[in-house]
Amino acid sequence: MGNIRVLIIEDEVKLARFLELELKYEGYSVTVSHNGREGLNTFLSEKFDLVLLDLMLPELNGIEVCRRIRKVSDTPIIMLTAKDEVMDKVSGLDSGADDYMTKPFAIEELLARMRVAIKHSTKKTVEQSKNILTLKNITVDTDKRLVKVSGDVIELTKKEYELLVYLIKNKNIVISREQILNAVWGYSYMGETNVVDVYVRYLRSKLDDVYNEKYIHTIRGVGYFVKDEEE
Ligand code: CA
Repeated sequence: MGNIRVLIIEDEVKLARFLELELKYEGYSVTVSHNGREGLNTFLSEKFDLVLLDLMLPELNGIEVCRRIRKVSDTPIIMLTAKDEVMDKVSGLDSGADDYMTKPFAIEELLARMRVAIKHSTKKTVEQSKNILTLKNITVDTDKRLVKVSGDVIELTKKEYELLVYLIKNKNIVISREQILNAVWGYSYMGETNVVDVYVRYLRSKLDDVYNEKYIHTIRGVGYFVKDEEE
């Protein structure tokens, strides 16, 4: 189990230390953070197989950390909630947590739930590993809704993501603003028609501008397209 990496985000230092020792004893690799924001940054900069996430945390609470992790990753999350935070279990699961444990808990139960969560996610990864779209150094895992550029996870909003997926699925084909509008915003969309241009701009600011690469090409008066190779 030495390769299973667990991130513990828990501000009760004694509890965090206890969990760290128990998990290490079980053979897990363990990283500990005592702060919501720092924990989230650690998650985003390294690779983990499971997160143990306390609810009440300094700087960024567990619900918010969970939401932000879910924007970019399907890594299993087990929330740790105090006894008097029962109401928050619901919002914990709503925010995308896989499971929760109420403190105080028996370490054996936590270990059992961790095994279930990890097994579940490994199975999902194997089943879903085929749904990957690529464009140059961009990969989109459409099951996990995970976008990476050269391995960096890119945070996109729902519409930015849908627009990128639509463009990549239609790689090498020029698509009109109307086609994009219908596919991404739907026929019933009643807002501004320049929304496509606005979102292309958002995507470029997160991709083209950051990676100094031309991913999205404009065909003046027609629309947009993406392609793998420069001509
Ligand atoms: Ca706490």
